[in-house]
Amino acid sequence: MQNLRQIPSLMGKPQPHLAGEPILALRDVSARYNGRFALQDISFDLIAGEQVAVVGPNGAGKSTLFKVIAGVLPSSGGEVTVAGSGPGKHICIAYVPQRSQVDWTFPVDVADVVMMGRIGRLGLFRRPKRLDWDYVHQSLAVVGMSEFAERQIGELSGGQQQRVFIARALAQEAELMLMDEPLTGLDVRSQEDIFAVLDELRARGVTVMIATHDLNLAAERFDRVMLLNGRLLGFGRSETVFTSERLLSAYGGHIRMLDTGDGTLIVNDTCCDP
Ligand code: ADP
Ligand code: MG
Repeated sequence: MQNLRQIPSLMGKPQPHLAGEPILALRDVSARYNGRFALQDISFDLIAGEQVAVVGPNGAGKSTLFKVIAGVLPSSGGEVTVAGSGPGKHICIAYVPQRSQVDWTFPVDVADVVMMGRIGRLGLFRRPKRLDWDYVHQSLAVVGMSEFAERQIGELSGGQQQRVFIARALAQEAELMLMDEPLTGLDVRSQEDIFAVLDELRARGVTVMIATHDLNLAAERFDRVMLLNGRLLGFGRSETVFTSERLLSAYGGHIRMLDTGDGTLIVNDTCCDP
């Protein structure tokens, strides 16, 4: 469980951005827990402004990948660069952990959660200025949560909490957002709210990586999909990545592909928050 104040991206520092470098590049990145590999030899580049869905069965390393990129977890090999700079905690990256990993009983109101996104820009002990509150209120407006500014975060629905975290990332002026299963456990209406916010992020040129268990949403709504199972099994357009061969290799017998007449529906029975 993470206390809301401990969510790591706010510790970041501004780092130089080198012209012509991809917003994010990984080269042969590996990560281990107690000597066992959770990720091996991961290499890819992101294009600034694109929206990528990361899929793979439970234990595939999706959360580990985000933690390594965010600088929360050290890699055990390889290199991560952000706009040509690295490694380190980058303030231009916002990491939104899975909802189940956050202690929502922490007593803090919505505006304060969003203000936490400003801390890296402010320095820990400087008081927020008018400009910082402007960022907070504008960010809440972008995600449609202005009227909830004074509510306790724990009183909100899952979808609303997710939107507050996106506002926090906006207030941080994040250019790359890593969201760990933001759609898991949301009803269709709340998922649509998140997608509306993603459209707004697209208009603002923010690069987004989302971990999800929903392969169909991944295929329909994202520019590229990344199929992970310890190793990178594919990264590109869903038509080329979600082939039955690759999906079988990632999910084994836990997946079926149904021909619906006007397309293929992918059904997997691995889900979500353990
Ligand atoms: P995903 O998010 O795709 O479900 P994770 O990144 O959480 O996958 O986990 C990848 C692998 O690393 C799994 O085998 C998991 O058991 C292991 N793992 C994750 N976190 C820890 C941890 N804190 N300590 C030990 N092993 C871990
Ligand atoms: Mg995970």
